[in-house]
Amino acid sequence: MKKLFYAPRILFAFVCISLLASSLFGQSTAPQSTAPEQSVQPAPARSDTHVIMISIDGLVPDYYTEPARLGLKVPNLVKMKLGGAFAIGVEGIYPSVTYPAHTTLVTGVRPAVHGIIQNRIFEAPTETQTREWYWFTKDLKSETLWTLAKKSGLVTAGVGWPVTVGAELDYNVPEIADPKERSSPKRTIQHSTPGLITDALGLGAGSDNTTDGRRAKISEFIIEKYRPNLMLIHFIALDGVHHEKGPRTPEAIEMAERMDAYIGRIVEATRRAGIFEKTTFFIVSDHGFAEVKKRFEPNVLLVKEKLITLDPNGKPVDWKAAAWPAGGSCAIVLRDPADKATAAKVRSIFNDVASRNNGPVNRVLERKDLDRLGSIPNALLMLDAAPGYAFGDALTGDEVTEPKDYRGTHGHLPTRAELRSSLIIFGPGARVGAQMPLARMIDIAPTAAALLGLSFSDAEGQSIRELIKPGLIPKAQASKKKSKGAKE
Ligand SMILES: [Zn+2]
Repeated sequence: MKKLFYAPRILFAFVCISLLASSLFGQSTAPQSTAPEQSVQPAPARSDTHVIMISIDGLVPDYYTEPARLGLKVPNLVKMKLGGAFAIGVEGIYPSVTYPAHTTLVTGVRPAVHGIIQNRIFEAPTETQTREWYWFTKDLKSETLWTLAKKSGLVTAGVGWPVTVGAELDYNVPEIADPKERSSPKRTIQHSTPGLITDALGLGAGSDNTTDGRRAKISEFIIEKYRPNLMLIHFIALDGVHHEKGPRTPEAIEMAERMDAYIGRIVEATRRAGIFEKTTFFIVSDHGFAEVKKRFEPNVLLVKEKLITLDPNGKPVDWKAAAWPAGGSCAIVLRDPADKATAAKVRSIFNDVASRNNGPVNRVLERKDLDRLGSIPNALLMLDAAPGYAFGDALTGDEVTEPKDYRGTHGHLPTRAELRSSLIIFGPGARVGAQMPLARMIDIAPTAAALLGLSFSDAEGQSIRELIKPGLIPKAQASKKKSKGAKE
């Protein structure tokens, strides 16, 4: 059973391609020391070092492991992969959705610990549905890369990174939308470092006035002007295309190529800033993608079973249990967590659904499974979608629908192969030519911290030694017991 949730830490393969790598991007690849970590003198923080983490939302790893097979032209991803180190896939967290995953990427712990347990905050069916997400750093319960870096006097920046509204980043343009409006930069401007967007964009974003186009331009500006030690950048458009058209479709391929161009621009900005040689890039994603055709509506079933009561107009007036869906997963929440009768009824309803032939539910995850996964603490249980299905939150209508323009989703168990996310490490901190079959998302933040000379005191994850140069892990981290928190 354990194996389902925690893939064994697999031995890395070491590929000797450093000769090829040395000319890529012109970054020098000095011969690597094989000295053990213990011999390194601990340094408080490496103020002459830079880490830029670029998240391409929903980037599936085969876009950089097998671009030719997909007819994909991503020269920057390929250069970074060949000139750096990479994982063929990354096992994420549950639910495998954007906000919990991005928070794991900067904390090294799972959602139940860092507090960002879903994208959207739960609202009871009888409440006003604001549909607000976890935008605010105040909801975050763990130390982050930027709090660590800041404590050590390093310069920090974030552009479009989830859950950074109110974050103590020196230069911050957080991600925040208004659920009532389709696209509004008003809230972003209101919560960004005063004057920063105006300074960066000047009279406008130029020919590419998309959200990601603006994020790229603002990032270039911050890098050139402020040379942050730690920078977090999040590009979102690929995720949207994957949802609408599906992964690996012509539209997705075209968008992935645009993402690659943004990465190239960020790398070029570090050259202009004079920090290229000192910058290690982490190219990451938050989740993979599963193809989907149908949507299952758990709340429609809960209405039928009288666990949600609607008035004649279809407005909820009472409830005992409700669905809290996120694409390929769906939490079921009880109004009264101590209500054993409702809990038993809910279990019976969804176990029946899971036992249907070719039904919409792959499996029902009970509390003990969820605790092991560090997932949503207030869920009675969670549903993992069957192949081809996603979950919705409609209260009325058909139990199963086939929506148009909804061909990809995520949120499922991170152990599912199609849900694997991405990791490339490129720059002076990378162990050039190294690759590993499967990295863990919880290990990425401790690895980025290590390159800056920093250590988390409470992360479950550990530095990925296989992918970074020997000797870079700070003594405090290197001496930490390997068993801490890891359930292997
Ligand atoms: Zn995402």
